Amino acid sequence: MSDERMIDTPQKTIGVLTSGGDAPGMNAAIRAVVRSGIAHGMKVMGVRRGYEGLLNGDLFEMSLRSVSDILQRGGTVLQTARSKEFCTEAGVQKAISIAKVFELDGLVVIGGDGSFRGARDLSTHGLPTVGIPGTIDNDIGCSEYTIGYDTCMNTVLNAIDRIRDTATSHERCSVVEVMGRNAGHIALNVGIATGAEVIVIPELPYDFDRDVLKPIFEGKSRGKKHNMVIVAEGVGGGVEMANRIEEMTGIETRATVLGYIQRGGSPTVRDRVMASQMGGKAVELLANGVGNRVIAYVNNQIKDFDILEGLSMKKSIDMEQYELFKILSL
Ligand code: ATP
Repeated sequence: MSDERMIDTPQKTIGVLTSGGDAPGMNAAIRAVVRSGIAHGMKVMGVRRGYEGLLNGDLFEMSLRSVSDILQRGGTVLQTARSKEFCTEAGVQKAISIAKVFELDGLVVIGGDGSFRGARDLSTHGLPTVGIPGTIDNDIGCSEYTIGYDTCMNTVLNAIDRIRDTATSHERCSVVEVMGRNAGHIALNVGIATGAEVIVIPELPYDFDRDVLKPIFEGKSRGKKHNMVIVAEGVGGGVEMANRIEEMTGIETRATVLGYIQRGGSPTVRDRVMASQMGGKAVELLANGVGNRVIAYVNNQIKDFDILEGLSMKKSIDMEQYELFKILSL
């Protein structure tokens, strides 16, 4: 590149942060943003601890080598946080001032829908910001996939396979509570993959007698030696459900709340590739001066939507998949 060209086009600076709950693959996305940004001739600043770090001016320049050896690591090397101050008008104004101090021309926010609302606020206040869906729940309406979902499902699958081994040996019923506050995608997919007898998810109202007891009694009469009941966190009460099942059926029933093991671990191929593609796309948008977008995976393609439009889109549970689960659990 000639000196003349360097003078004509001042170097752009972009920031990258992770926000909300961590998800495996966030590091792969950070790496993609840093390396794609530098490849586009940009300076890339890492922001520690999400919007909280932005408000505190906790930014540092990242290099090609600063993202070496993180692709395979779970969690987020930038740390993540939730910031109440940032949700206020004064907080957003302060964040914009800090962004000016560090001469940011754009920002990439890796997180869930709450984080995207913050990204929209920054965009409307003059800092072009692009969101990348990073959340294990796969609960972003505009995208068929969110970073961390596949790794999380595989972690849950491995745990349930092990629980089933012991449940079969003891002829027990197992109730496993998995993540998913508002969405049952993890529960439904892992339920099919592990051959669960019962799946309880927030999207579908359930009746305990009809949807939990009946399949257990019917399975028993067909010779089943164990029962696997998967409950999404949003429905809650895995332990209470186990107690109720034992009381009503007389079958020894144990509850396992999988909790935070579902968040950690080395990302799968799918999460690493998806995070890399989404990171690259986010940088491409900012390089073209485009902000207020959210990256999405739709029909096997990486696309982008206006943040508000993306946030307004709804994703429902696949009822065909649910009906198939019921047949396969017979
Ligand atoms: P997860 O799905 O993993 O919970 P998330 O991005 O939805 O991820 P939140 O805690 O909802 O997680 O949001 C992360 C941060 O984004 C908040 O701490 C806050 O700083 C900011 N944020 C959330 N909601 C809003 C909002 N309505 N307006 C502006 N900023 C918001």
